[in-house]
Amino acid sequence: MRKGVVAMDEYGAIKGVYEETDPAVSDVKIEFYDGVLIPGFVNTHCHIELSHMLGKTKKGTGLPRFLADVMKKRDTKEKDILAKIQAADEMMFKNGIQAVGDHVNTELSAKTKAGSPIKYHTFVEVMAMTKEDIQPRVDKARDIEFYFDANHTSITPHAPYSCSKELFKAFRKLVNEDNILSVHNQESDEENKLYRYRQGEFLDFYKEMGLHADAFKAQARNSIQSYLTHLSKNNPLILVHNTYMSLKDVDFIERLGRDVYFCMCPKSNLFIEGKLPKILNFIPNQNRMVIGTDSLASNDTLDILEELKVISSHYNQLDFLQILPWATINGAEALGLADELGSIEVGKTPGLVLLEGMNNLRLTERVTLKRIV
Ligand SMILES: [Zn+2]
Repeated sequence: MRKGVVAMDEYGAIKGVYEETDPAVSDVKIEFYDGVLIPGFVNTHCHIELSHMLGKTKKGTGLPRFLADVMKKRDTKEKDILAKIQAADEMMFKNGIQAVGDHVNTELSAKTKAGSPIKYHTFVEVMAMTKEDIQPRVDKARDIEFYFDANHTSITPHAPYSCSKELFKAFRKLVNEDNILSVHNQESDEENKLYRYRQGEFLDFYKEMGLHADAFKAQARNSIQSYLTHLSKNNPLILVHNTYMSLKDVDFIERLGRDVYFCMCPKSNLFIEGKLPKILNFIPNQNRMVIGTDSLASNDTLDILEELKVISSHYNQLDFLQILPWATINGAEALGLADELGSIEVGKTPGLVLLEGMNNLRLTERVTLKRIV
């Protein structure tokens, strides 16, 4: 809307959206902003508890080496981890982020989240590659879940290379139908090699980390086509990364009739693998596209505007109005928060962000952001 007027109360709730000429706003005091007003962003994928790892991992190693690096270096003083979590939360709010889908393995981020103006949905990750591991790992995840906002927490399988078929199947009985799942998917081609041929760098990674790899058998198809059918069709599902997802894989999901959100984390993909997902393959699912920053272990900032700029610069056929919903309302829907935020609509409290330096709605490097509410 050109020269639109947004009315908000003192709590940031939207009271009305008007044309400039609407008599309802002819007599009221209006604050003017020169730029584009948008709702606060939704960061659909983050790991805030890894914020202390900024600058501690090597770029371009590929996923298996990156994971080994994170696992070996993540332990440090709790006080430092907590301070970096708090700083990351403040950074995201300043960067116009209103809601975050955040993966955890510990309860360390609970206090920051409880006191934050940002809405979090916390995903507690479960990994298990042997049958014996399933129950204790699920019990531990349930214990961690208890520390977070009960209405905005769920447990989820971590990734196809860290979960056995039995664990995926166990989720059918473990969780209710409203439990949102968020699975790292095809972030590396090594994951497809593991599932297709039982080969590749993940086998070296398991050996190095002392993990049992017996769960994986050669199945002559990509990971998604093997594990997705084990999960219940009814659980909302976010597939994160999808860097090595083929058009055939996308078709496979569609044929299953499965509702899926595809989360793109472009800066993290460039950092770890030096490659972006084939975003145009997903375009028929426009309203299912969402954006994440991933963690500071594989990104230099937590800033959705920067992620959008990367997408824009690599895919100049995608315009701003097309990708803005990916970073706002679609993410809110994926996280079950669309009643409250994600769009400038009466009754919501979406936050209000001003984009400055835009020319003809083009998302160039010059565009900057200021949080208004
Ligand atoms: Zn992740």
